[in-house]
Amino acid sequence: MPTYPAPAVTFVRGEGSWLWDDEGRRYLDLLSGLAVTSLGHSHPAVADALAEQARTLLHVSNLFGTTIGPEVAATLDRLLGVGQPGWPAEGTRGQVFFCNSGAEANECAIKLARRFGGRGRHVVVSALQSFHGRTLATLHATGQPAKHEGFQPLPEGFRHVPWADLDELERALDTTVAAVLLEPVQGEGGVNPATEAYFRGVRRLCDERGILMMVDEVQSGLGRCGRWFAHQALGVVPDVVTMAKALGNGVPIGACWAKREVAAAFEPGDHATTFGGQPLATAAARAVLAVMEAEDVPARATRAGDRLRAALADMPGVSAVRGLGLLLGVELDGHDAKAVVTRLLELGAVANAVTPTALRLAPSLLITDDELDHAVELIGKALA
Ligand code: PLP
Repeated sequence: MPTYPAPAVTFVRGEGSWLWDDEGRRYLDLLSGLAVTSLGHSHPAVADALAEQARTLLHVSNLFGTTIGPEVAATLDRLLGVGQPGWPAEGTRGQVFFCNSGAEANECAIKLARRFGGRGRHVVVSALQSFHGRTLATLHATGQPAKHEGFQPLPEGFRHVPWADLDELERALDTTVAAVLLEPVQGEGGVNPATEAYFRGVRRLCDERGILMMVDEVQSGLGRCGRWFAHQALGVVPDVVTMAKALGNGVPIGACWAKREVAAAFEPGDHATTFGGQPLATAAARAVLAVMEAEDVPARATRAGDRLRAALADMPGVSAVRGLGLLLGVELDGHDAKAVVTRLLELGAVANAVTPTALRLAPSLLITDDELDHAVELIGKALA
């Protein structure tokens, strides 16, 4: 269906930071399928895990137990506790619902907030310029009114406040509010990182009023921003965390984590999924997380992000670089970002125009220094 413009390029193969099109041309991938292939394309550990699992057991439904999902859930729980005081070492602080996408992870969070808040206390407050998905509920949570227009009426129970404004948030928190849902770095909204003061303030307001603090780490999570989860640098422990994108390195999988006492608001039958948590997707996630830990991807993202940021900051045509780790927004000085993306593609690099004036860069977290230098060279050429 015509939901996307006609593609400029058709890709047929990928390896590490590189993609090949159907005419055999090679491209340096600085976007990772929108922050998904964080370990690069066709990572052998993920490919092997998928092949082995495909021969072992693909799917049985959630009417039966499987062994891999609980293992992945425990790993996520442990990683969510990194740097968080008092987190039990064995990874049992929270519980996880597996699904197939970021939007579904947020749908789970929104339904959980409604069960937790109870009838009459169901409103989810999110920020302007946020992005939380394209299903009807997550579209309404998305704070971009232009995207709502063609789909009114949207489900009731959503409210938007200006980003990074605690006073406006406080004004929005009446007794109908069940949860606040925020990205630690707004991705689609232009790569806008939250400050520690803002997130600590949100946590305080939520605590004072018994409101859930839900953090959307679909784009920012799993090492990309230099921590396992970007909120870990912001001095808060959220009640609910959603993730997807990089969790399967390209295999569709999402997860909604909640503190045990919050997850307990769900009863059997409240929420369900046919495919969520199935062995194939969780086998991919298990392999992804094992490689991510072995490679220490948060540290790699920090180091590579610093290198990229330093090289771009002084480049003619760049007015500012924002973001964290390897999720960067490059604000252009007098250039149309779409035109620059088109030129980059001609030169052999994939990026995206996150706003009319800014590029988004989200390369593989395993990108090499040589590849980073090549990226800087191509961006310089495109701007020149
Ligand atoms: N939340 C955030 C922060 C995202 O960046 C995205 C996708 O870009 C989503 C949710 C939706 O994820 P999906 O496209 O997997 O439904």
